[in-house]
Amino acid sequence: MAEAKIPKATAKRLPIYYRYLNILFNAGKQRVSSTELSEAVQVDSATIRRDFSYFGALGKRGYGYDVESLLNFFKKTLNQYRLTNVALIGVGNLGHALLNYNFRQTNSVRISAAFDINADIANTIQSGVPVYPMAEMKEQLQLQQIDVTILTVPIDDAQKVADELVAAGVKGIMNFTPIRISVPATVRVQNVDLANELQTLIYFLDHYGSKATSDNSALE
Ligand code: ATP
Repeated sequence: MAEAKIPKATAKRLPIYYRYLNILFNAGKQRVSSTELSEAVQVDSATIRRDFSYFGALGKRGYGYDVESLLNFFKKTLNQYRLTNVALIGVGNLGHALLNYNFRQTNSVRISAAFDINADIANTIQSGVPVYPMAEMKEQLQLQQIDVTILTVPIDDAQKVADELVAAGVKGIMNFTPIRISVPATVRVQNVDLANELQTLIYFLDHYGSKATSDNSALE
């Protein structure tokens, strides 16, 4: 299957497809129809067919898609073979929760280092992850070849820490703070504003009821 440039919305759905195909494959299923997939992942089947056509995967009428070949393709595309070490900055409530969670359901990413300005937490191990003082951040990131980071520092420190991350050569920042940080075009930021997501859900419930909310922002 050809690896063409795919739309961002399609790329966002890739992990969702991947997870479900993995379940099907482990259950010994050889093929799946777009209707079945649609029900399982809550994406309409026309969108699934369009998404899959970008990957060069054309389902056969009456047969559906071959689970194994789709899975292999997604695996390659998502780089599931490679373990990516990620660092977390700011071991507060949210930072602690993420360290403890540590993306255990995937075997491709894990938080392998954390950093905090607080001397009480620096040089300790939290949920199996070493926490280093901020003074060692640049050196450790480079030493451990980490270029993806999770930002869970307070709002007022977010930009300053983001600048430090950029200076350390980081390529991606998952920003859990509610502010939009500025970074050079060479660095990618993914914003995850949990309070905003929750408020959006409540807004939709209040204004449109439960039906219109079946659409998930991760699927947009
Ligand atoms: P959360 O916002 O995750 O609920 P919290 O309320 O427990 O956290 P915050 O004050 O938001 O605590 O700080 C989160 C963590 O970020 C704390 O552990 C704090 O020591 C750390 N922190 C604060 N400023 C910086 C900084 N400039 N660089 C690195 N870490 C910092």
